[in-house]
Amino acid sequence: MQAFELLKQQLDIRTVMEDDGIAFNRSCKALCPFHSEKTPSFTVYKKTNTFKCFGCGAYGSVIDYIMRTRNYTALESARFLDERYGLQLFSENKTSREQAKKYYEDKKLV
Ligand SMILES: [Zn+2]
Repeated sequence: MQAFELLKQQLDIRTVMEDDGIAFNRSCKALCPFHSEKTPSFTVYKKTNTFKCFGCGAYGSVIDYIMRTRNYTALESARFLDERYGLQLFSENKTSREQAKKYYEDKKLV
């Protein structure tokens, strides 16, 4: 689905994690949200916009991160991000649905 690719490209994974309260050091490392550790081994890669933990082996995209931290499906994760950052990539979202409804009402098509 194209929306997934857009989310992965448009959302800076580090910003999304920082918004969750994860603090990165200067080498882009943080304490892993998926396992307990004292030395940061959770790393984000700006170039690929992905994460990897050298402690527990967790890795993936911003979608994978949301899925794992929230226990969401891929679609739920995408919708969550879409809503949180107001990207409106999903036509099912409230705003576009209301806009569509208004459009049809204005045109007296319903
Ligand atoms: Zn880990």
